[in-house]
Amino acid sequence: MIDLDGTLREPLSGQRYFQNAQDQQMIAGADLALRAYQDGWIIVGITNQGGVAAGHKTMQRCIEEQQYTLQLVPQLKEIYFCPDFDGRKCFRVTRHNAYNHSQTQWFKQYRKPQPGMLKLAMVRHNHPPEDCLYIGDRPEDEEAARRAGVAFEWAEDWITRHQTTTYTCEELIMTNTKDRRDDDDNQGQQQDDDLEQD
Ligand SMILES: [Mg+2]
Repeated sequence: MIDLDGTLREPLSGQRYFQNAQDQQMIAGADLALRAYQDGWIIVGITNQGGVAAGHKTMQRCIEEQQYTLQLVPQLKEIYFCPDFDGRKCFRVTRHNAYNHSQTQWFKQYRKPQPGMLKLAMVRHNHPPEDCLYIGDRPEDEEAARRAGVAFEWAEDWITRHQTTTYTCEELIMTNTKDRRDDDDNQGQQQDDDLEQD
């Protein structure tokens, strides 16, 4: 599970907030870090979106922002967001739909640092807390993870940790195969040169 703003995405415009749904880019290094979580991992976004309650964006705009993030980051399966300051509402956004999950046992516990969104995501995917990790950039992220019983890692540490050794087995095999192919090509070129000289 991963926080989004300041952890995985930032405004492309350099402004503090997204100017429109497409005003997003991945934070440098986050794409490489995400590559380390492939087989057996389900990656979901968890984000407070109090900007909806504050009147900075509409619900529809908020959903569009999440759906654009899902386009930008194909490894993300879905995004949970809480649009109010009391933690009463929770929506789950997939590439094509949005679902209202507000009426669960975690009503009023959705906004981080409350753990409701994390708990809902774990129950939906049948993952116990000890098998999960939450990555975030703010104290409320750390607190939400603690209350959900999930290991927490700071975004900065997480990105740094994954910058050097994130090749998957498949990628290593492909790289090695490509090197061999390049060698073969060079040999072929060498033979052609020899023939021309003759
Ligand atoms: Mg954040």
